[in-house]
Amino acid sequence: MFDNLSDKLDKALHVLKGHGQITEINVAETIKEIRRALLDADVNFKIAKEFTNKVKEKALGQNVLTNLQPGQLMVKIVKDELTELMGGEAEGIDLSGSPSVILMSGLQGSGKTTFSGKLANYLKNKKTKKPLLVACDVYRPAAIDQLHVVGEQIGVEVYSDRGNNDPVAIAKAGIQHAKSNGCNVVIIDTAGRLAVDEQMMTEIANIHKAVTPQETLFVVDSMTGQDAVNTAKAFNDVLNFDGVILTKLDGDTRGGAAISIKSVVDKPIKFIGTGEKMEAIDVFYPSRMADRILG
Ligand code: GDP
Repeated sequence: MFDNLSDKLDKALHVLKGHGQITEINVAETIKEIRRALLDADVNFKIAKEFTNKVKEKALGQNVLTNLQPGQLMVKIVKDELTELMGGEAEGIDLSGSPSVILMSGLQGSGKTTFSGKLANYLKNKKTKKPLLVACDVYRPAAIDQLHVVGEQIGVEVYSDRGNNDPVAIAKAGIQHAKSNGCNVVIIDTAGRLAVDEQMMTEIANIHKAVTPQETLFVVDSMTGQDAVNTAKAFNDVLNFDGVILTKLDGDTRGGAAISIKSVVDKPIKFIGTGEKMEAIDVFYPSRMADRILG
């Protein structure tokens, strides 16, 4: 995960190793390399620039106040700033509803159906939760089949209504079904498209309005870098979602989406997907991720 970025940041920070003090000159070189590493990771130029400006300011400001070696000081500053940029504290999901309704949104192929299953499995394993999965993709019968396969795999019931082409009605009926069957969490999997389009946005907005979810989650493929960030912005403008799910981190060597998405949409990354299996789900902890990136 993020191997390229880790390597490049390590090289950038290496510049300061062996120097007795941080100076305007040696910090400038490190900062230039850090900025380059972020741009290579597909972080937006403005974010990379703001980030490195902050790091530089802190490094020059703290230099005289610390016993740390310049290399160590710089690692600490970059780690703290990366943590901040990725969201600071970890944020959970709101499960206070009865039932709690979680609406999944995102493009086709982002990993929505897989993540819906992972989340249902994760909550089921908490024992106090009995989830229901609801299949609201009315365009692709294969998507309904896929959710049933996932549901069977993890032992979670799936509500679907083949032939009904009204996703709002299916979502509402799914919630009713959950109420009648003692399910306390409803996870609604919706239809995506290959790119943002108006029909998809109207449809998801209508479902959102009709079911008033406790959590609206936006699922996005981490490997798509700045595209992921732009798509997040488009969905957030329509849904004002509560959190981001970054999938496929296991295949992402660059890390640009993970680093910049929070600051663009001002919404936390809540979970990450790290593989195709149902167990490949993790809560997103910004500080742990920063530790991981900096090795
Ligand atoms: P949807 O169209 O948004 O519902 O996307 P799917 O859930 O069908 O996922 C698309 C593809 O991505 C499938 O082949 C999944 O197995 C795969 N996938 C989903 N999440 C992950 C992940 O975290 N890591 C990896 N490597 N593959 C994933």
